[in-house]
Amino acid sequence: MKFLSNILVLLILISNFSFAQKKYFKGNTHTHCYPYSGDITDTSYTASKVVSQYKARGYDFLVFTDHGAWFNAAPLSTPDFTVINGEEAGISGGGLWGHFTALDLKSRVSGANLTHQQLIDLIYNQNAVPFLNHPRYDQIPITAKQVIENMQSRLMHVEIYNGVTINQPGHTDISVWDSVLSTGRLIYGVAADDSHRESHQAKAWIMVYSSSNNKDTLVKAIRNGDFYCSTGIILDSIFYSSNRIYLKSQNGNSIKFIGKDGNTLSTVSSNEASYTVIGTEKYVRAEIGNSSGQRGWIQPLMVTGSTGSIEENRINDFKLYQNYPNPFNPMTNIKFHIPKSYYVKLNILDVLGREIATLVDEEKSNNTYNYQFSIHNSPATNQLPSGIYFYRMIAGDFSETKKMILLR
Ligand SMILES: [Zn+2]
Ligand SMILES: [Zn+2]
Repeated sequence: MKFLSNILVLLILISNFSFAQKKYFKGNTHTHCYPYSGDITDTSYTASKVVSQYKARGYDFLVFTDHGAWFNAAPLSTPDFTVINGEEAGISGGGLWGHFTALDLKSRVSGANLTHQQLIDLIYNQNAVPFLNHPRYDQIPITAKQVIENMQSRLMHVEIYNGVTINQPGHTDISVWDSVLSTGRLIYGVAADDSHRESHQAKAWIMVYSSSNNKDTLVKAIRNGDFYCSTGIILDSIFYSSNRIYLKSQNGNSIKFIGKDGNTLSTVSSNEASYTVIGTEKYVRAEIGNSSGQRGWIQPLMVTGSTGSIEENRINDFKLYQNYPNPFNPMTNIKFHIPKSYYVKLNILDVLGREIATLVDEEKSNNTYNYQFSIHNSPATNQLPSGIYFYRMIAGDFSETKKMILLR
């Protein structure tokens, strides 16, 4: 029986290795090229040239979104670079304006004379993801009220940074995002170049947290809001629980937490910070900055109202389970879960808090793990008397200690 349970634990451990470790992939979701976008006159600015330029800049994927034009760009993909088909479809009828880029579009959609919601539905029906582009650009003024009233469903993404909106209100435009979030509706912010020439490239991008750069995996992660926006800020970890956000940056030194109506909830002068929800915020999101003027934006955590299944997917938590069997002799199982990659320490302590055994002391990818502690593992624990012991897990800024009983 003991032999069997050892094999079981071994199998659990082995199965962990079959899960690919998630990491961040850099990409631009709004890209134009010649000849598909009519406003590009440089005949050398072709799709393959654009791909090689973004590749040289260290990108992992690109979405072609030409004005009212779809073409099959996917064959330009290579094992280390994914090209995704899309289109920038606009509506301009009946006094309505709006541009929507469609991520993973299978064929052209035409927006002429449609309502906003009809165009969103056309995109959605192709199992593609609609993004509202530069909503307040001077020629295309869309208000949050319009988003809320005329785009009631299936719109989950809005540009908050667009690299070519030189006129009002400028590249960064957070107001529609904050206004929609303030009504309790979840919408993700997206940063994109909207590049029409080489000088437009690499102004802002998204970092997608994904197990691979495979097209479907990337699209799924983007659909679920598992990405952050950046103009240069690099984030090592973002953690959401149902009532808390924690993040850590490589090159940021100021973190601002923002809630309802875009109001600042707290500002922290550090590369890492956490915020615990009070309950009246409506939503909480964070902006990261540094002295070089680089910025980063993470997706919001909705505090009240219906959050929907997509939001639920994004809630991931640390968990240290109660050991079993408990009381134990000589062996017990200790299970834990981590939401992202962390350096994990799992130790056994005596009643005085002294470490008497180490079960884990290494980097672990996001997963659920089960470890066995047996007093026969080492001479040091072989002679342990009956009594109360503790096991403690530390991962990032998470730390939890639980009690267990050895009964010999
Ligand atoms: Zn546009
Ligand atoms: Zn565009």
